[in-house]
Amino acid sequence: MVVKKGLVIAIDGPASSGKGTIGSLVASRLNYKFIDTGAMYRSVALLALDQGIDLQNSNAVGQLAEASEIKFVYESIRGVPGYRVLIDGMDVSIAIRSPTIDSAASQIAQYVAVRHALQAKQRVLAQNGSVVMEGRDITTVVFPNADLKLYITASIHQRARRRYEQNAKRNIHVSVKDIEEELAKRDRMDTQRHASPLQLARDAIVVDTTHMTVAEAVDKILSLIRERFPQYVDVS
Ligand code: C5P
Repeated sequence: MVVKKGLVIAIDGPASSGKGTIGSLVASRLNYKFIDTGAMYRSVALLALDQGIDLQNSNAVGQLAEASEIKFVYESIRGVPGYRVLIDGMDVSIAIRSPTIDSAASQIAQYVAVRHALQAKQRVLAQNGSVVMEGRDITTVVFPNADLKLYITASIHQRARRRYEQNAKRNIHVSVKDIEEELAKRDRMDTQRHASPLQLARDAIVVDTTHMTVAEAVDKILSLIRERFPQYVDVS
């Protein structure tokens, strides 16, 4: 596939719906940049904990979010597209994936000051287009005028199973039932918070991956892009 001009593809959806894996593969097929905005919230939460900042102190965490520099360094490992995440020069790619950071990130993501700081950085990262960006408020707040808006979801049980498998690869052992409870809690926090809650944008296309493989979901999205933007994308 050869891309003639850069689109902005915005993806939202609940935790562990597959939007990261799918979005990253779609970006790689289009030769686009992939931006995982959840990693930005996670990095700020980790840095705050490292610096002994009280996570309840929204002003202090907001200032930290604004002052910190977050970078994505893209690299493929054995042909699989990937990226490392750096905050203030510190590689936090692995550290931000712990269960502690799962909930710390959701906690600080509720603060308006944190959201404004990170949303501004996200717009800068995507300023040249040719980007796939995923998170919770990308289709609704960060890029409400994105060329394509997707809402990737899956049943909570399926999401818990996927997270369980990801955890096992990282040597993290939590039962599916406990993960399901944690996901339900995060879903509640993300959808009910006051500042840019996770919502289905009116014009977003829902992709339910409960019964889809990753490859099927990627193909479905690439077909949508070909259908809607034949002038931007050549199929080769
Ligand atoms: O996507 P991921 O699970 O890595 O995101 C971690 C947390 O960061 C989410 O549970 C959510 O609370 C927050 N987040 C957000 N807005 C985004 C991306 C993530 O509030 N755009």
